[in-house]
Amino acid sequence: MYTIIGPETNLTLCLIGRFLTERQIHTQMMKERMAEVWHPRKGVSIREIDSGLFLFQFYHPLGLQRILKGGPWSFDRHLLILGIIKDGEVPNQIPLYTVPFWVQIHQLPPGFNSSSVGQNIANHIGEFLEFDSRNTTTFWRSYMRVRVLIDVRKPLKKSKRIKKPGGEATVVLFKYEKLGPFCFVCGLLGHMEDSCEFLFNASEDDGQRGWGPELRADPRTATPRSRWLRDEDSGFNSPQNLGYSGYYGIGQSVTFNAQSGNHIYPDNHDNKKRNDLMTEIFKNPAIMTARAHTSNATSNSHVQQNTTADIAKEPINLTHANQNSVAANDDLTILDRKRRYHDDATTTDEHTTTSIMDTEDADHFLWAGPGNQACQGS
Ligand SMILES: [Zn+2]
Repeated sequence: MYTIIGPETNLTLCLIGRFLTERQIHTQMMKERMAEVWHPRKGVSIREIDSGLFLFQFYHPLGLQRILKGGPWSFDRHLLILGIIKDGEVPNQIPLYTVPFWVQIHQLPPGFNSSSVGQNIANHIGEFLEFDSRNTTTFWRSYMRVRVLIDVRKPLKKSKRIKKPGGEATVVLFKYEKLGPFCFVCGLLGHMEDSCEFLFNASEDDGQRGWGPELRADPRTATPRSRWLRDEDSGFNSPQNLGYSGYYGIGQSVTFNAQSGNHIYPDNHDNKKRNDLMTEIFKNPAIMTARAHTSNATSNSHVQQNTTADIAKEPINLTHANQNSVAANDDLTILDRKRRYHDDATTTDEHTTTSIMDTEDADHFLWAGPGNQACQGS
């Protein structure tokens, strides 16, 4: 039984969400906390429309867009999974299992630092959303940064071997920003090992842990810093001129096994389309508001070219969402214009000089976990 969302509710200003936990959420405290952290200019109303399912109603598109652009959000260390509601949808049947994270790619060898490489590695981790072109590599900070839509039903990706044809394979390591608690046994967000189904299904604990705290990125701006402390490579604003020193989301993450929880969403075609839609919305939250004015738009318009696509009715023509996904145990080979993994116009980066494909010689390379250096082909 859930609260009916009346026709007066503007769904283009609403998000639906649940927390990734098996525990009861203290609703009133959560409302206060989320409103305080988000502090949207025109306010936000939050109501529980079904058990553990919340409707977040904003009153200005910019307030909602800022939430989609930020995050991941959490309350009491429980990760918030957000989604949209389309007209006529039953709220408790909306699949909610993807969350955007900024992921750092470490130990990237020289010559691999490009947005197309970042995009392809991101599509190995989850669904690519954004490349941080402002993340400058310095002696102290040498990693690539990509925003990725992560499926919380899948174990966190830790590393990937990449290579150029004829070159040595190198292991790149992933670190997730604002990554809260997760299970070191099965690699899933949403619970820790003391409630890991996988562990409790085994006859005994062999002590092996496939995941560890090294997946957490060091906070980039975790705590407010002195206004007088500056980075050597950036400009300086005198503290007197600073009206607002920064924006900090709440920490982050988890507790609950999606498989054992009360929301199970099979990977059917409709859910795949919805997932693609959420990918586009996290990439460009402004398309949320376009829904309100475009009931006659062509259903197949591509949002990146036509922000008036009627995304409320039928998904955008996405042609590449999963094509770059690569099996976990295969190497990624970086090619120079020899073969395109993309086959569509939506990624028409004519300036792209590299793409990534699976290799057939994966067996020639040792698998290396976090902390290991590059492996060389035999
Ligand atoms: Zn587990």
